[in-house]
Amino acid sequence: MEAFFCKELIRQEVTSERFIPIPEEVREAYRIYRPSPMFRAIRLERLLKTPAKIYYKYEGVSPPGSHKPNTAIPQAFYNQKEGIQRLTTETGAGQWGSSLAFAGMIFDLKVTVYMVKVSYDNKPYRKVMMGVYGAEVFPSPSNKTQIGKKILEDDPESPGSLGIAISEAIEDCVNSKNTKYSLGSVLNHVLHHQTITGQEAIEQIKMAEDYPDIIIGCVGGGSNFAGIANPFYYEKIRGKAVKETHFIAVESTAAPSFTEGEYTYDFGDTGCMTPLLKMYTLGHGFIPDPIHAGGLRYHGKAPITSLMVKNGDIEPRAHHQVDAMQAAMTFIQAEGLIPAPESAHGLKAVIDEALKCKKTGESKTILTLLSGHGYFDMKAYESFLGGKLEPYIMAKDKIESTVNEIRHLNP
Ligand SMILES: *Cc1c(COP(=O)(O)O)cnc(C)c1O
Repeated sequence: MEAFFCKELIRQEVTSERFIPIPEEVREAYRIYRPSPMFRAIRLERLLKTPAKIYYKYEGVSPPGSHKPNTAIPQAFYNQKEGIQRLTTETGAGQWGSSLAFAGMIFDLKVTVYMVKVSYDNKPYRKVMMGVYGAEVFPSPSNKTQIGKKILEDDPESPGSLGIAISEAIEDCVNSKNTKYSLGSVLNHVLHHQTITGQEAIEQIKMAEDYPDIIIGCVGGGSNFAGIANPFYYEKIRGKAVKETHFIAVESTAAPSFTEGEYTYDFGDTGCMTPLLKMYTLGHGFIPDPIHAGGLRYHGKAPITSLMVKNGDIEPRAHHQVDAMQAAMTFIQAEGLIPAPESAHGLKAVIDEALKCKKTGESKTILTLLSGHGYFDMKAYESFLGGKLEPYIMAKDKIESTVNEIRHLNP
């Protein structure tokens, strides 16, 4: 793994240490936007006429607008400390690319971003943001790499996928000097950095003299969900939790690895360059429909979160983008804040649970991580308002064929 990652991040990836101190340089950068606020959505509760209490912790306050800088900052810091000069990465909707560009700017590293082509074309302002933070951005598949060239030969119109962009970023990294690769989700060290949100949330909800019965988040690769959930789960298994918290992870029906995929070994990327990961996956050859929640278009899910789903510690759900955006509209009507389409998938489950409480009369406490704002996602809202949004649900036979392709990895 030293071909891709700096030593400290590999150490964190495989360590059995329970807590790792946050370096002062990282704390100082976090102070730009941390602690992030937790709000009680009283107006949403009132609108739904629910006895449930709804809290959301809001990661849209980071300069790039999502939870992703929580790991981009420490990753950039550890790489700089080990003398690395450039980081390569992929980005889907652009949130990860802009977060790493931001972190690279803080710690004086060059950043090269391979951006999934469909997003490169649909989300031009994220691209500009990365440029403002000093990063270079290529649409993926690109002709900067062998795998990109090969995919373009087979299909010049390829919309790209996260898996392809990961392969390009890794290829660029291993062929360059003083360059490492950086991943914005899925891996243990990424989930670990994200637990800053759950640790803050424990303190914040105690200040409100409350405790969550239910914790809900959206899942792309799993990092924002694990960030809010894992610290509460730790309290739960230690018998320190005030309540038997129930965890709900919401994926997109366009990339439904938890609910339709298989728990098995697979590559993290289309080019088969990563180590094999045991996770819920749709197969590394899976190319999802071009949904607006670009952050939820990955074929696999974090090994830690996958194991928790497998063990029944987390309830997985899948929602399509029309239901998600409808939930976002309800949230906006009450709270004003415009959520990212990814976060909207979690909000759909929040509203479902709040309406269940209305039926049963239970006053449950629901906590969600609102992973980012949607102010760069006006195209998604425009499509929704124009009634042009497709409720993409991936066909079962398409899933079966890409899952079949990985059977030989698991004799
Ligand atoms: C990237 C992203 C996600 C999904 O990624 P995870 O690693 O599962 O958190 C969710 N919400 C937003 C706003 C994102 O940018």
